[in-house]
Amino acid sequence: MKQLTLSTDLISSHRLPGASESKSASQTYLDKRVTKSQRRTKRTRSQGARERLQTKEHLVGLARELHEGELADKLDRCHSRLSVLTCGRHIERIIPNFTCEFRLCPDCGRRRSRKLQKKYLPLVKAFVLHNKVTPVHLVLTQTHRRETRKESAGRIRNSFTKLTRRSFWKQYFKGGTWSLEFTKDKNGLHHTHLHIIGFRRKFFDIELLRDEWLAVTGDSHVLHLKPILDLAAGLQEVVKYVSKPLDIRRFGAADLKEFLGLKNMRMFGTFGEFRDFCKGFEPSDDNATSELESLARDLVEGCACPQCNEPLFDLRMSAKELPQFYEQVESSPPGKVGTSWN
Ligand SMILES: [Zn+2]
Ligand SMILES: [Zn+2]
Repeated sequence: MKQLTLSTDLISSHRLPGASESKSASQTYLDKRVTKSQRRTKRTRSQGARERLQTKEHLVGLARELHEGELADKLDRCHSRLSVLTCGRHIERIIPNFTCEFRLCPDCGRRRSRKLQKKYLPLVKAFVLHNKVTPVHLVLTQTHRRETRKESAGRIRNSFTKLTRRSFWKQYFKGGTWSLEFTKDKNGLHHTHLHIIGFRRKFFDIELLRDEWLAVTGDSHVLHLKPILDLAAGLQEVVKYVSKPLDIRRFGAADLKEFLGLKNMRMFGTFGEFRDFCKGFEPSDDNATSELESLARDLVEGCACPQCNEPLFDLRMSAKELPQFYEQVESSPPGKVGTSWN
């Protein structure tokens, strides 16, 4: 739903003739048309857990409709039983009984995007420091055509490859990361967006970039650009589409069938000089784990909670009980340990 509003937002923002002349350079650059998803307020963990449950139930239903029994069973089992290490007020670790690794599974997708975040955040930070570049979040869109999801994704990626080969792009950008977001409108047309973290070498007028995008797409100049002030939040904004490339709750059986045919489609990647930079850093990836994270991994029942020193205990619960447990944790007053959970 929210993702659909995002695209309508983008379509309705036509460029007015002569608009570039009437705006000052800084106004143009900031581009006030921030997308809805970027404006979205943070959900609580209980809301997130509840949404994941609903999404999963919906997916299981669609899989059964398509007679994909094996997929439905896997999804049903995935994260259905949980071992939660908690002091009653803080949750230190959640271990699922089983992970299905299906690309649209909201639980597995969340783990996948966390893994990407952990891998790329140190690289993005190092690259920005090393090259003195400014990270920006760029959203590229294209016109909607009657085509398959695969064709739509291929079209936008081709346009982007062309864009990165142009001298304008090379002059202003030093590589970055990309991820794909899919939405569909009520007429069934695919709206595919590319979310890019671009490392900008120097300031430029956004209208010039619009002209470049129009030149490679032939019919689209709609894009958004905003500077990334917080690298962790900025990267999360982009990798979240890897775990949630589309709004599954608006998905029908035909959509799932189409998605099952896209097994090898890449949803995230790096490009340009950042890509080479990442290759050079690959061997040290495992060392990127922070001290705190390795500490959390070593925690077992009986250890002191790193946040409040109370003893940790291992709670077994079903996925359906998790949202309620999160609610209890969220509403625990500071200083008081909630142990009413059984
Ligand atoms: Zn899963
Ligand atoms: Zn605690």
